Amino acid sequence: MRFAADEDITRWVSAFHEAGHAVIHCAAGGRIKRAVLTDDDNGYVIPVEEEPHPGRLMDWLAMILGGHEAAARFLVKHAGYGLSHARATTQPGARSDLAGFRRYARGSGISEAAARRETEKRVRRHWGRIERAAKKLHARGRLTQV
Ligand SMILES: [Zn+2]
Repeated sequence: MRFAADEDITRWVSAFHEAGHAVIHCAAGGRIKRAVLTDDDNGYVIPVEEEPHPGRLMDWLAMILGGHEAAARFLVKHAGYGLSHARATTQPGARSDLAGFRRYARGSGISEAAARRETEKRVRRHWGRIERAAKKLHARGRLTQV
């Protein structure tokens, strides 16, 4: 996979972002109703679970941060970006995720830095599954399992 045009890459970034959320959630035992890529190259994932499992907040936080991390890793692996440039480039697309992260993390004793380290580990561990899910999502625009 190699990309030339910016317009080409935008939809892939979104596909990896949503695949990251979905796979990190499902790899921790969660389920998804669906993952969707919209016509304007945005997307969303609707998990079956509406709240973190008691005592497993890190799983939920890693799901939230997994979108940004997977999108950044995609740019590193497939578009030749350095990691910090990739993270900065994909940050605007993850702004609402970060607001959600802060809401859940508040008062938990889990710092954003610790959650990002854990998320990076999980995204690396499940990268093959994230790639497969992102390719399907890019092709079909919609997934109900990953
Ligand atoms: Zn997201």
